[in-house]
Order: sequence, then C-alpha cells, then structure tokens
Amino acid sequence: MIVGVVKESFPGERRVALVPGVLPQLMRAGPEVLIESGAGVAAGFLDEDYAAKGATIAAGRAEVFDKADVIVMVRPPGANPDAGQADLDAMRANQVVIGMCDPLTAHDANQAAADKGITLFSMEMMPRITRAQSMDVLSSMATIAGYKAVVLAADNLPQMFPMMMTAAGTISPAKVFIVGAGVAGLQAIATAKKLGGVVHAYDVRPAVKEQVESLGGKFVEMELDTGESEDAGGYAKALGEDFYRRQREMMLEVVAASDVVITTAAVPGKKAPILITEEMVNGMHTGSVIVDLAAERGGNCELTKPGEVVNHNGVIILGPLNIPTSIPFHASQMYAKNIVTFLTHLLDEGELKMDLEDEITVGTLITKDGKVVNTTVLEAMGTPSEGGTSS
Ligand code: NAD
Repeated sequence: MIVGVVKESFPGERRVALVPGVLPQLMRAGPEVLIESGAGVAAGFLDEDYAAKGATIAAGRAEVFDKADVIVMVRPPGANPDAGQADLDAMRANQVVIGMCDPLTAHDANQAAADKGITLFSMEMMPRITRAQSMDVLSSMATIAGYKAVVLAADNLPQMFPMMMTAAGTISPAKVFIVGAGVAGLQAIATAKKLGGVVHAYDVRPAVKEQVESLGGKFVEMELDTGESEDAGGYAKALGEDFYRRQREMMLEVVAASDVVITTAAVPGKKAPILITEEMVNGMHTGSVIVDLAAERGGNCELTKPGEVVNHNGVIILGPLNIPTSIPFHASQMYAKNIVTFLTHLLDEGELKMDLEDEITVGTLITKDGKVVNTTVLEAMGTPSEGGTSS
C-alpha cells in the first residue's frame, strides 16, 4: 500500500500532512510513503529529510495521485475551493483521501468526491472521545492558535507583558482577559501567564473554572445561569440572545479594565456569539488589543473584520484567519502525528479495514461507494440521511 503526500495548493498554506519524524511509525504498520518533491519545504522539511526516513520522492504531483492508494492532505478539495479542483480531477475511484475537508459547509465538494467514487475521511469530524484524543486535529490546531493569539497580542500591544522593577521605575504587568476557555483559550491562558501577564478568563461551562485556575488564571465569576450550557460531549450549547446580552453587560467592566482581550468562544456548528460590542470596545483604552480567534466563524467582537486589522479609536482588533499555517513546522508535526495515529487505527496487517461499527471510522467517513454516507454531513447538506453511517 502506498500513502501519498502532495504539496498543499491552497493560497498561503504552508503546512504539510506528514513530517519525516512520523514516517517510521507509519511504515512499521506496512505502507510505503511517496511524497511530492518540495511538499514539506514551506514547513521546514526538506526532501532529503523524508528520504532519510525511507520515503520515495516523486518528481511531480501527478505521480503521487497516480500511484498512491491513500492520499493524505491538509486541505483536500472541500477546503481548497479553487486550486482543489485540479486535485479532484487527478483523484480516482476507490482512492482514499484523508484531510480537513470542511465537510459541513463544502456540500458541492462532498458530492463531487462521492460522484468520483473517492473514499473520503475528514479529520475535523473526529469524535471527541478519550480514545480519539491523539487523532484530534481540532485540538492540535486550537493549541497553536491559542499560543499564537497571545504572541500577536504582545506584538501589537504598546506595553510589555511582565511586571518589571527597574531603575527606571516599575512596569506594571499586562492585564489579559480570555473569553472562552476551551482548547485554544486554555493554551492562551498558559502562554499569557508564561509571558508574565495577569490573566482573567471566562467560559460558560462551569467545569472549566478549575482548569483556568490550575494554569494560574483567575476565573471571572458572573451571576449567569449556566446550568444548561454544556452538552453531553463537553461542548457549549447555544444559549439565546437574552443570555448573551446579560453576559455582555457583566463583561463590560472586565473588558474595559483589560489591555488585551482574546476571544475564542464558539458553539459547534453555529456562528460565533457576539460577546464584545462596539460600546464595550469604546470603553477600552487606546492601545489595547483584541485578538478574535472566532473570526473564521464570524467573530466574537462586533467590529472584527475576518483577516483584517481594525483600528477603532486606537483599539486594535485582529481577526486572524488560518493561524496554524503561520506556525507551519509545529502545526505540521502535530497534524502528522494525528494523521498517522488515525491511519494506523484504520490499518490491519498493512491493509485498510473499514470497520463500520467503529465510532472513529464512522464519525470521520464522509463518502464511500459513490455516496455521501456521514449522517451529520448529510443533515448539514439538507439530504435525507437514510443509509448514513454516523449519528
Ligand atoms: P470550541 O472551539 O467549540 O469553543 C471554545 C470555547 O468557547 C468552549 O470552551 C466553549 O465552552 C466556549 N464558549 C462558548 N460560548 C461561550 C460564551 N458565550 N462565553 C464564553 N465562552 C463560551 O471548543 P473546543 O475548545 O474545541 O472544545 C471544548 C471542550 O470539548 C473541551 O474543553 C473539552 O471538554 C472537550 N474536548 C474533548 C476532547 C476529547 O475528549 N477528545 C477533545 C477536545 C475537546
């Protein structure tokens, strides 16, 4: 069996799906690895690094699509709307494609993959169960985003983060408020603490309080009824406009007192809730910084412009997109580890097994035998889920 890796073609994408360090683990499970020349260069991995670990270097992209039984990518066509079409044309029936496909919104690409007979797996659909933690790309990428949000904030802030007692006087520490303490938020708390900031955080899931405190952050208590805020999977539920209005009122003071606000609040499958209004931004001091990690899902701040830097009366609002690609070395390393763990999970004595009773296989399988088969995806596509494989 041949596992193929191609150079990512999405504009600005610097990650690569496999890094040399994971090849021994993959090859021990049976497959050979074929990699397009230069596929890892933008992330810091050279052809000779891959070759040294046993991979074969393909001179061209077409050779990889032609020879590989399994193609692993960061962005398959669903998450690469323009350039991805050429890849789709190069793929063939029964080829297995694994990547982050954006399957809940890329309806046409799902159907196109099915029509072509491709067996498509999407890593974002990984069930969030303990057994699947080492395959969880959303957690890996959120870890990177949480770290980078603090670095971006520090770079844009006209202050330093740590307290300093110097001969030229005392420098007071930066006050950082983190809204949403999931994977990205917790990493942001840890990073801001390491830089010496004074960190406050809030999340609607009360269970998070202990985690915030264990990282040295202070949990902001708000008199809000969050009893129903968490679903069975540990995710936040949508809470209604009345709740968000009261939350905004209660956050007004802490936002105004902060030098940095990092927002990460999200509800799976929904547009991000607006938690920072223009009025709240008006209450912040000149030079303070908001980093809105929810920008890709519309943003938590009313003034966020996804992909842009907004200067609102001296308050800088960043809405970065595709943050993980800005740290391509480690993002690729973590992604590759998730991919290899997933692939070895699918392999049985060097062959792919499609155990349709297995929650991990079923949860991530999007298309098979000419059909879209994932019920969550079918629901998102507005298609009856008869014959689907997920729940
Ligand atoms: P996410 O990106 O969907 O959301 C980020 C955070 O925003 C969440 O903590 C959520 O509670 C919070 N949020 C939503 N609305 C908010 C509001 N109005 N105000 C403040 N905060 C709000 O979530 P995520 O980081 O991907 O994961 C959330 C949780 O899922 C984790 O903390 C964990 O419990 C669970 N999880 C489990 C696994 C696993 O077991 N494999 C892996 C990853 C995550």
